[in-house]
Amino acid sequence: MATMTKGKINVAIDNIFPLIKQFLYSDHEIFLRELISNATDATNKLKHLARIGEFDGDVENLKIEVKLDKDNKTLTIIDQGIGMTKDEVIKYINEIAFSGAEDFLNKYKEKGGDPGIIGHFGLGFYSAFMVADKVEIRTKSYKKGSKAVHWECDGTPEFKLEEINDKKDRGTEVILHIAEDSTEFLEESRINKLLRKYNKFNSVPIKFGTKEIIDPDWKPGDNKDEEPKKITVDNIINNTEPAWTKKPSELTDEDYIKFYHELYPDVYDDPLFYIHLNVDHPFHLTGILYFPKLNLNLDPTKYRIQLYQNQVFVTDNVEGIVPDFLQMLRGVIDSPDIPLNVSRSYLQADAAVKKISGYITKKVADKLQSLFNKDRKAFEEKWNDIKVIIEYGMLSEEKFYDKALKFYLFPDVDGNYYSFDELTEKIKSVQTDKDKNIVVLYASDAKEQHAYIEEAKNKGYLVLLLDSPIVSHLLQKLELENSELSDQKQPVKFARVDADAIDNLIKKDETKVSKLTEEEQKKLKGIIEKNIPAEQFTVQMEALDETAAPFIITQPEFMRRFKEIQQTGGTMFGGNDFPGVYNLIVNTNSDWMQKILKAKKKQAEYVQQALDLAKLSQNMLKGEELTMFIKRSLELMK
Ligand code: ADP
Repeated sequence: MATMTKGKINVAIDNIFPLIKQFLYSDHEIFLRELISNATDATNKLKHLARIGEFDGDVENLKIEVKLDKDNKTLTIIDQGIGMTKDEVIKYINEIAFSGAEDFLNKYKEKGGDPGIIGHFGLGFYSAFMVADKVEIRTKSYKKGSKAVHWECDGTPEFKLEEINDKKDRGTEVILHIAEDSTEFLEESRINKLLRKYNKFNSVPIKFGTKEIIDPDWKPGDNKDEEPKKITVDNIINNTEPAWTKKPSELTDEDYIKFYHELYPDVYDDPLFYIHLNVDHPFHLTGILYFPKLNLNLDPTKYRIQLYQNQVFVTDNVEGIVPDFLQMLRGVIDSPDIPLNVSRSYLQADAAVKKISGYITKKVADKLQSLFNKDRKAFEEKWNDIKVIIEYGMLSEEKFYDKALKFYLFPDVDGNYYSFDELTEKIKSVQTDKDKNIVVLYASDAKEQHAYIEEAKNKGYLVLLLDSPIVSHLLQKLELENSELSDQKQPVKFARVDADAIDNLIKKDETKVSKLTEEEQKKLKGIIEKNIPAEQFTVQMEALDETAAPFIITQPEFMRRFKEIQQTGGTMFGGNDFPGVYNLIVNTNSDWMQKILKAKKKQAEYVQQALDLAKLSQNMLKGEELTMFIKRSLELMK
C-alpha cells in the first residue's frame, strides 16, 4: 500500500521560492542545464556502479529525454540513472538540495547579486522554480525491490510525497509545470536552442523529439522515381564524445579541424593550428585551443573560447582564466577546478586559476616553438596571421616574452624570415655603428618607403618589413632588453629607413668632406630656409654621396615611434602630443646645390623642385602641389 507523506521543508529564510525568481531573473534559462546535469550525474553514477559490479543491469544505451507538452504546459526531463528511494528523496531533495539552494541564495545576496558568473553553478534542483510554479518528481531507484515515489511541491515550503505503482522504469522524471510568466520555455525552438547552447557536448545522449531520416538499409530499386524509404529515429542533440575528451594520439589533424567547425558552424576558414591541453596535476583541465585565421569581417566576440565543466557549457567569457593576449584564440577549455560561483575579481586572485592561466601561456609558447622547429616554412607562412597575438603576448607576459623571443620572426622586405639571433648574427658585421650598436633597419611600408629601402640596400644593409600596429611597442622593449653592453652582446637599436639619411642611421667612423666651404654652406642654408615652410621642416646640412638625392625628408625615429605608441594606446610621457616635425636633410655634395647657389632669378624654383622631389619619395606630394611640380619639371627640362 502506498503511504502518503505530507510535510514542510525546513526553511530558515521564510520562503526561498520567490527569492529564487527575483534574484536570478537574468539567468532563468540555466534551470534546464542544472536539471540535465543532475540527470547526467545520475546516469554516470549507474554506469560507475555497473563497472564496479554493484549493478548488473544493462547500461549500454542510457539516455536522457527532454519532452514538451504544450497542452498540459509541462516540460519533463527523464533519465534512466540511479533514481531515488523515498528516503533518498527526503534526504537529497528536501534536505540537502534545499539547504544547498538556501546557501547559494544567501551567498548570492551577500555578493550583491553579481549577475556575471555567480548564477553559473550552484543552485541545482531548485532552479526549476525560476520557471515553474509546480514541480513533480517521479523516481524509482536502481536498488532491488525499491518502490517508485512521487514528490510534488508547488512553490511553497510544503511538499507531498507518496509511493506510486505506475512507474515501472528505473530512473527519474522531473516534471515542470511552467509558470504563466515563463511560457517561452514551452516553445520547441527555445528549448532546442538551450540544449544546443549548454548541452551540445553532454556526456550522455539527450533525446529531444524524433526526426525522419533515410533508412540506411534502403537501396534504390528499378523504379528511379521511387522515394527513398524514411524511418523515424530519436533526435539526439549532442555529441557525447567531443574531441577534447579524447587522447591526442586518437585524433588526426582532420579530426581537430572537423571539431573546430562543429564548435563554430558558421566559420568557414580552417584554423591555422591547434593546441591540445591536458593536465591532471595540480589541477584538472582538458581542452583544445585554436589559432584562427583572423577575418576582419567576422565579429570576434561571437566566436570565443568556450568554458565547460564536465562537458557542460558554462560561459564564453574566459576573462581571467585565459590570459588577455590569448582571448583572440578559439576553442574549448573544460575544467572542474575553476570556481564559478564567485565574482570575476575573486576568480582572478584564485591561486588555481592563476596556475591555469600560466599553464595555458606555457602550452601555447611550447606549441609555437615546436612548430618553429619542426616545420619552419609552414610557420613562416602563418606568421602574418599570428604575429599580432604573439607581439601582444610578448608585451603583456614577461614569461611569454622570454620564450617567444626564440621563435618571433623578423621578415625582411624580400620575404626572408629571421629569428632575433639569426638576424643580429647576419647583420652584425655590416650594420654595427661606431658606438658598437647593432642597428636594425626596418620599413613599415615597402611601397611608400621604396626610395629609402633602395638607399639602404645599396649600402649592403638588410631592411626588415615590420608592419603590425603594435610593433613600435615591441621594438621599444627589444631595445630595452638588449641595451646592456657585455662581452658577448652588443646593444641593439632599431631605426626605420626613413628616420634619417642612411649614413646617419648607421654612423661609421669615416666622415665625408663637404664640397662646399663653410661660407657657401651658410649662404645655402639661408636661401633654403627662406624658400620652404619653416614651421614644417628643420634644415640639416649633411655631406652625403654625390649621387644621393639633393634633399631628403626624414622623421626622427624617436618622434615617430613615440607618436605610434601613443596612437595604439601606450604612454611614454603622459598625454602631450608632439607636433609632426620633419627634418630636411640637405646634401651639400649634390650638384643641385651649385645650381641653387649660382642661380639668380630661379633660386626659389630650384629649392622647391628639390623639396618636391623629396616629398615625392615620402608620398607627401599630392593634389595641386603635384600638378605644380609636373609643370615646373617640364619647364626646367626646356
Ligand atoms: P547537486 O546536484 O549540486 O548535488 P541538486 O540540488 O541539483 O544539487 O541535487 C541534490 C541531490 O539530489 C543530488 O546530489 C542527487 O543526489 C539528487 N538528485 C537530483 N536529481 C536527481 C536525479 N535526476 N536522479 C537521481 N538523483 C538526483
